[in-house]
Parts: sequence; C-alpha cells; structure tokens
Amino acid sequence: MSKTVVGRFAPSPSGYMHMGNLLAMLLAWLDCRAQNGEMVFRMEDLDPARSRREYVDALAEDLGWLGLDWDRGWPEADYAQSRRGEIYERYFEDLRRRDLVYPCRCSRAERLAAASAPHPGEAEWDRRCRCARMSRAEQAALLQSGRPLAWKLRCPDEDIAISDGHYGLFVQNPARETGDCILRRADGVYAYQLAVSVDDMLMGVTRVVRGRDLLASAPRQKWLIETLGGTAPDYCHAPLLLEGERKLSKRYGSLSTRELRQRYKPEALIGLLAHACGLLDRAEPIAARELIPLFSWERITREDIVFPGNDL
Ligand code: GLU
Repeated sequence: MSKTVVGRFAPSPSGYMHMGNLLAMLLAWLDCRAQNGEMVFRMEDLDPARSRREYVDALAEDLGWLGLDWDRGWPEADYAQSRRGEIYERYFEDLRRRDLVYPCRCSRAERLAAASAPHPGEAEWDRRCRCARMSRAEQAALLQSGRPLAWKLRCPDEDIAISDGHYGLFVQNPARETGDCILRRADGVYAYQLAVSVDDMLMGVTRVVRGRDLLASAPRQKWLIETLGGTAPDYCHAPLLLEGERKLSKRYGSLSTRELRQRYKPEALIGLLAHACGLLDRAEPIAARELIPLFSWERITREDIVFPGNDL
C-alpha cells in the first residue's frame, strides 16, 4: 500500500495574505486533497518581532473562508513554531556535536558580503566567512567572550538533486551557490531553514507545495532532514503571482485578503485563481472542493502569472 500523503500549509503571520499566498495555499490543498491526503496547518511564527496576533487569527480565518480545510495543526500549540524552541534546540545541538554548525561573529553587513556572488579571481571558499575556518581554540575563546553569536550551517559542498514535482530536476551545490545559512540568530531565535526542516520531518510531511521562490531552499532542506535522520518530502513548487499594470494603485498582488474579502465571494476568488494558474478555462465562480477532480499539475502553468490590472 502506498503511504498516506501529508501536505501542509505553512504561512508566516507577518502580514495579511495576498493573492500570491492564496494561490500557493490553494495548490497545496488541491495537491493534498486530490490524493486523499491529510492536511497539516503549521503557524510559522518564528520571528517574534514580525509575527502579530491579528495576522495569526486572520490566516486561519481566511483559509476557512476560502473553503481550504485542514486535519491537524493550528490552533494546537504544538503546531506553532514559536512554541517549538526546545525541539529545534535538540536538533541544533545534534548538528553542533557533529561540528556541522559554527558560531559566526560577523556583522550583518559582513555576512551579506560573504553571501554575494564571488568575483572573478576570488576563491569559492571566500563565500564562506572566515568564521567557518576558526580553530577549536579560537572558537572556544569566542564562545567564552559571552557576546551574542549567530550559528551557521556548514552547507554541503556537493551537488544535491531535487526532483521537483512541477519544475523537474533541480541541482544545487549549496556551499557554492547559496553559502552557509544561519540556523540560529544571535538573539537565540532559530532560523527558517532549521525550523522548516525539523517540522516537515517531525510532522510527517510528504509533500511540500509552495511558491517557486523557495525552490532554492529545497536542496538544503532535503539535506538537513536526511542528515538529521529523517526522510525528505517530495517538493513541488508553484508559479509565483506577479503584479500587473504598474499604473493601477491597487493591484492584485498587493491586495490583502482583508480587501479581497470585501470585494469578492470566496467562489469568485477561487475561480480567478484557478483560471490564472491554468486549471479553469474561464474565471467563473467555483468552490474549492469542486476543483479537486479537475486538479492536475499538468494543467498548471510553469510561467509566473502576471495578473492584468484590469481584471480587477
Ligand atoms: N513560512 C514561509 C513563508 O510564509 C513558507 C515556508 C515554506 O513553505 O517552506 O514564506
């Protein structure tokens, strides 16, 4: 028997959702429901400075309004990343024992410089800041200094292949192409790459469907999950929704669900999204569940979608 498909919503409550987020949520839900899967809702409220209670509430409410339901997750505390610090710590300590992370004393500006593309003549190694090459003694002295330090992952210097369910083969050498990423910030907050990998692993997620902008993170997440002893999910990235006509003051992409909900019934919005991504020939009102039998990745465009402003 094939294993149960487990999909997930993993929004960040740093603002109200816009059409691009809604498209990614709709596709994640359809992908899961079309396979009779179980849907998980995880609240990615990792960053206390950016997460707001009103957005947390709005996310769940907006998904419900659209008819996108879930089987487990929010509002259970175990599914809020802000409550999972001890779990991330355990996995972080495992990586630390294995010398797969190192403390970084660089300023934010230095870190950004280290992450930029190498210029001709520079060694690839320069993409790693010097902290990656600190001796044990230097590291110990730094840790003893008591200053707040970020911790970075030693990204693997090897090709990692993802067979993306929508975009096909994607190969990346993280050490060369992305540079080492921060797993724990200097203020102690665990970072996205660690939290998302640990959570997808522990929550039994088998299908990650999300916007194409995160495709570049998938090889690191796959590698992290496997390094931590788990099985990586299948990744399936969705086209992005871009803003159309610049001259309109309010465009699709920037309209928040607060505004969209005043203008549209949920079926009308679902119809617009389904048409925009290629699932429906016409933008006619339809309930999300009526799209389940029509859903197939083959019908979904791979091009990013530009909404013409006058569709509004
Ligand atoms: N929480 C992330 C965001 O809203 C998405 C994480 C993911 O899907 O991996 O951008």
